[in-house]
Amino acid sequence: MAYDPNNIFARILRGEIPAKLVHETAHSIAFNDIRPQAPVHILVIPRGAYVSWDDFSQQASDAEIADFVRAVGDVARAAGVDAGGYRLFANHGAHSHQEVPHLHVHITGGRPLGPLLM
Ligand code: IMP
Repeated sequence: MAYDPNNIFARILRGEIPAKLVHETAHSIAFNDIRPQAPVHILVIPRGAYVSWDDFSQQASDAEIADFVRAVGDVARAAGVDAGGYRLFANHGAHSHQEVPHLHVHITGGRPLGPLLM
């Protein structure tokens, strides 16, 4: 899928839509999900123009991938969910119901999340 430069997270990255960043690195930013599904629900996104995990994993540099993976862990720890536990997920494509076509990893936690049902 071609990257849409006007998707909502691209606009957040350009500062056109406000978002309170909870974390920033050279290659990633993180902000709270606007419709939280748990007491902690944070999205971590790469600054680069990647639709989803599929093209990120193929096209991103090792530096971007390392930065992103580390950012996810750092954000979860800073949010205080490392002790109790948290869930990570990233939707790719239609079957997953991906809504925003810019890669994002969801971090959810802050309460027992129950078993993963699908
Ligand atoms: P997806 O289904 O994995 O693409 O999830 C997209 C997520 O982005 C949803 O959980 C939305 O609540 C969230 N979202 C959409 N627009 C915004 C926004 O402007 N700020 C923060 N989160 C957003």
